[in-house]
Amino acid sequence: MMGKDAGMTVHLEETLTAAGCYDVLVAGGGLSGAAAALSAGRCGKRVLLIEKQCSLGGLATTGLVNFWVPLCNGRGRMIIRGMAEELLKLSLRLGFDTLPEEWKQGEPAQPTNERCVSWFSSGLFALELLRLLRENCVDVLYDALISQPVMADGHCEGLIIDGKSGRKFYQGSVVIDATGDAQVLAQAGVPTIEGDNYFTYYGEGITLEGCRRALETGNLFNAYSRPFGGTADLHGRQQPAEKVPYHGVSMETINAYLQENQLLMLKKEERKDRWARGIHMLPGMPQLRTARRLDGNATLTEEDCYRHQAASIGTICDFERRDCLYEVPYGVLIRDGFDNLMTCGRSASASGWGWDVLRVIPPAVLTGQAAGLAAALALDAGCAVSDVPIHTLQEQLGKTGVIIHFDDAWKPASEPEDCAAAVEGHI
Ligand SMILES: Cc1cc2nc3c(=O)[nH]c(=O)nc-3n(C[C@H](O)[C@H](O)[C@H](O)COP(=O)(O)OP(=O)(O)OC[C@H]3O[C@@H](n4cnc5c(N)ncnc54)[C@H](O)[C@@H]3O)c2cc1C
Repeated sequence: MMGKDAGMTVHLEETLTAAGCYDVLVAGGGLSGAAAALSAGRCGKRVLLIEKQCSLGGLATTGLVNFWVPLCNGRGRMIIRGMAEELLKLSLRLGFDTLPEEWKQGEPAQPTNERCVSWFSSGLFALELLRLLRENCVDVLYDALISQPVMADGHCEGLIIDGKSGRKFYQGSVVIDATGDAQVLAQAGVPTIEGDNYFTYYGEGITLEGCRRALETGNLFNAYSRPFGGTADLHGRQQPAEKVPYHGVSMETINAYLQENQLLMLKKEERKDRWARGIHMLPGMPQLRTARRLDGNATLTEEDCYRHQAASIGTICDFERRDCLYEVPYGVLIRDGFDNLMTCGRSASASGWGWDVLRVIPPAVLTGQAAGLAAALALDAGCAVSDVPIHTLQEQLGKTGVIIHFDDAWKPASEPEDCAAAVEGHI
């Protein structure tokens, strides 16, 4: 693909002195990483969040996935609370929202089938996230590509990053991999599993028709459109027959995925009226749903629906099916044998439909919040992340509003209903 197959071999040897030393290093500034950094920062830890892009939010902002799937059970009860609820509010503070009327003032007094979902402005949310992290004394390093962890006997000493001023080493006592594809864990030798990804790619555009609608309604949200390359959804519907699903963790696959999609998008745009539409943004990162994840001490699966977990870090819900509830076990964030490495977000340990339920924005914030807090507790106790006192973790998460265990009375008397239609995003 790129020039001749074989070339010269280079041998590099370098000595790097730590450019900074932190309690917690967070690798990746998507929503899970931002939540992890904020959570550890609020515990008074010195935190560095390292992000290769030039703004925060990851897929939810740079990736143009600006839609909160339900935080509620589809009966009017908020299920995913704590920092997820806080960040939902923050994302809607300055920009448009599409939150149903019933949810505008928080959890409704009466049961409702309307789900608590909303679009938000990616750019404004990214700015809010930076302000919030800075106010909580989190150091943010943009434009810094993590190239590898430095490991010694299962212990991560820190991360090597590459940036404009060359290569640097940052030392950290706990390292949270929030890269979205478990890059740091995989490089550190932690067992990981790759996922399949369908052919999906969209940008953000504007149309003349949308502008008319926006003027009529006084709501700029209506001006936006979604130009597509591949249109496959998370179930693989509309996956072109000739395309094999992508793993998405090699440079070659990522390039093939991006370039094929971009050329397809261009082809589709060629048929449109040039005066009536424009594309003002392409996603700044590959829109891969399940690239790679931790093979953790625990793995969330569809069978865990309604199962109580003694080591739960919070309750989450299914975005496509009303009433389906899960408790997320702490073990999805860690792996024995690696005393100071954790993950969160879409690389937490889950499989099958369990991975889909856990990877989306509200649960990604929940696992980020839990990872940051657990890192702080491990530092306070001087223990491995696997030995964090779970009751203390649960108690502290509970203080922020996180529901640790669902009430059995919330289980439906009959089979859960499909309500995929209530979820507008291209999840
Ligand atoms: C097509 C698509 C549609 C979706 N639709 C929805 C939806 O409608 N609603 C919903 O709730 N969820 C949706 N999701 C899922 C959701 O967006 C993500 O799962 C969630 O945002 C994951 O957050 P995260 O922090 O775990 O990972 P990410 O958002 O991927 O964040 C990872 C961050 O790490 C950074 N990073 C990675 N590697 C490095 C490195 N080497 N050095 C430095 N930084 C690095 C990245 O730049 C990024 O900022 C969708 C996902 C996809 C792909």
